[in-house]
Amino acid sequence: MRIDIDKDVCIGAGQCALTAPDVFTQDDDGYSTVLPGREDGGGSPLLREAARACPVSAITVSEAVG
Ligand code: SF4
Repeated sequence: MRIDIDKDVCIGAGQCALTAPDVFTQDDDGYSTVLPGREDGGGSPLLREAARACPVSAITVSEAVG
């Protein structure tokens, strides 16, 4: 999986980190960021749910290519 967070869109609501704390966390400014080593989602079943939970649809989850 490939995770993209559009930081221009993210409003720091934190829903992603609440929904999938094993993939997302919030940086010092409150914006969403992916935990180190979890750039591919780590197989978390909560990943897509977290993307859906984002109120501004800042998270895009796509199949990794290659
Ligand atoms: S849920 Fe969306 S807006 Fe909120 S911190 Fe995560 S990416 Fe940003």
